[in-house]
Amino acid sequence: MFFHTTETLPRHELELLQVERLKKTIEKALHSPFYQEHLKNISSESINCVDDIKKIPFTTKDNLRANYPYGLLTQAKEDFVRMHVSSGTTGTPTAIFYTQNDLDSWSSLVARSMYATGIRKTDVFQNMSGYGLFTGGLGFHYGSEHLGALTIPAGAGNTARQIKLIKDFSVTAIHILPSYALHFAQSLMKDGIDPKKLSLRIALVGAEPHTEETRKHIEELLDIKAFNSYGLTEMNGPGVAFECIHQSGMHIWEDCYLAEIIDPDTCEPVADGEIGELVLTTLTREGMPIIRYRTRDLTRFIEGTCPCGRTHRRIDRIAGRSDDMIIVKGVNIYPMQIEQVLMNIPEVGLNYQIELFNEGLLDQIRVKVEIKSAYFVEDMRVLQGIQKRITSALSNEILVTPRVELMQNGSIPQTEGKAQRVIDLRNK
Ligand code: AMP
Ligand code: ZN
Repeated sequence: MFFHTTETLPRHELELLQVERLKKTIEKALHSPFYQEHLKNISSESINCVDDIKKIPFTTKDNLRANYPYGLLTQAKEDFVRMHVSSGTTGTPTAIFYTQNDLDSWSSLVARSMYATGIRKTDVFQNMSGYGLFTGGLGFHYGSEHLGALTIPAGAGNTARQIKLIKDFSVTAIHILPSYALHFAQSLMKDGIDPKKLSLRIALVGAEPHTEETRKHIEELLDIKAFNSYGLTEMNGPGVAFECIHQSGMHIWEDCYLAEIIDPDTCEPVADGEIGELVLTTLTREGMPIIRYRTRDLTRFIEGTCPCGRTHRRIDRIAGRSDDMIIVKGVNIYPMQIEQVLMNIPEVGLNYQIELFNEGLLDQIRVKVEIKSAYFVEDMRVLQGIQKRITSALSNEILVTPRVELMQNGSIPQTEGKAQRVIDLRNK
């Protein structure tokens, strides 16, 4: 059962569609001041097969910033009906503008993604992510309505109200950030609510990096199936790549996005199945097409076909962003390596934070780890043992020895939006 016929197009037909749409995308893009300059000597004629995309230069976040706010628009401003802003914390934000057609095709992609996880119009869907400029709010909202599900725009936070809505309206599916999902599960436990007694069956989790271990925790604690959801504002928002019921990688919707994975240093394609930086091109966006966008997100194509029958390739869980990499004492570390180690240690609770600081001339790394309440009452020696075990497991993985600080459950501040996992206190 599929939402859209293109989901099972044979590969060669899918590629023909991509070429046709890429040509149109270039034609449209050439109406924007930025691409007129950027795509010198390139026209739709330059493209005869998917591989020809390599003739086109990349578009970077810096390009978007330098042309903020309107430099990529291909139509008059009055043709646009919505804008969103990406959630980066530093520098000029990037603003993305949508025509009504763009919004309609985005909603249809989100609806398709939700359908792939088993959500149907008979479901009651509670969107527990922030609305406003963040695309996870309105993106899922309109997607869910497009699918025909009863949609509750709960927004982020206010856990007590979220629980009441779930109970009162027999909510069956939710969209929730993974860091908040763990916090939410903890609140249920605290209130003595048995998730088995709730009607929830599906959680869509994404918008921030999280490990397979975290997914498993969410599934167990909420007695739910959790599906990984990937997207970014520059490519509309959620609905770029999504897990199907097989939960084995995210189908990237290749009729609407042309995906490449490159070595971030050489910019050459990586070998099949190798990890690299995802580069995406919009294929159906009319108002603000973006070509060969360097997402900075690290992933790989999963080889082979998915038992669901969809022909669109799958990408692996995002391993991190190339700009998330921490360098401590000359060693490269990704926050997800730390999360993976922590979430496999039974005494560890649900939250953690990484701090970088100076010690003399050296960089140091401190990992603050919440410990389950049951262990926090143990005597000092037991706690020291736990601390030692966490330290050694971490240093085996990241190859530097971090300071590990055990924290009481719930003591690391919880943010309403995406979790801030790394705090850099180093002198710049
Ligand atoms: P924004 O457009 O500001 O909401 O942020 C988009 C970014 O969030 C992406 O480029 C990724 O770095 C991250 N992101 C989104 N979905 C996921 C996911 N499922 N797993 C890991 N990171 C994600
Ligand atoms: Zn599948």
